[in-house]
Amino acid sequence: MSDTDRKNPGDEDAPGTKQTGENICPSCSGSGRQGEKSCLDCGGSGRIIAIVGDA
Ligand SMILES: [Zn+2]
Repeated sequence: MSDTDRKNPGDEDAPGTKQTGENICPSCSGSGRQGEKSCLDCGGSGRIIAIVGDA
């Protein structure tokens, strides 16, 4: 764990956390944009960190 891990609002957990994976951001459908602005949930990446949970 470190303070440099950045979470976007749409992330379910911090990047690199066990049993997580990248997923298409449901808020922007992976486009990274909401209208003329960057998507807030994924920070414009179009992807969020989702907890997978069943390894
Ligand atoms: Zn998004």
